[in-house]
Amino acid sequence: MSTIFKKIIDKEIPAKIVYEDDEFLAFEDIYPAAKIHVLVIPKKEIKNLDDATEDDVMLLGKLQLTVAKVARLLGVNENGYRVVTNINSDAGQTVYHIHYHILAGEKLGVMA
Ligand code: 5GP
Repeated sequence: MSTIFKKIIDKEIPAKIVYEDDEFLAFEDIYPAAKIHVLVIPKKEIKNLDDATEDDVMLLGKLQLTVAKVARLLGVNENGYRVVTNINSDAGQTVYHIHYHILAGEKLGVMA
């Protein structure tokens, strides 16, 4: 089942896009949890890492490199940033389209 992120990919709803290529999209989180909070997603609909398969090995590798590329574009790579991906309910996943949060722009607190 498609999510709100599919509507963002298809430009059916607006988002502040910071990076896009054929396979990936990065956009600002609507409820930022840090001064800089960007989500990086593949255009392919995969629910989360638990839903990924061997067929997704290349895509997942590229997704991580895209996260690093976006962090450089945002200019946060040298000071540092945190990458988070939530998987299912105990982690608080709310949108079931795999996404990596980039959190940056300030000293981040200790993780739970
Ligand atoms: P999750 O909780 O699934 O790890 O993260 C989903 C994230 O998507 C949340 O941080 C939430 O603020 C963000 N989000 C949910 N709906 C929208 C939306 O319509 N636009 C944008 N830009 N972010 C959204």
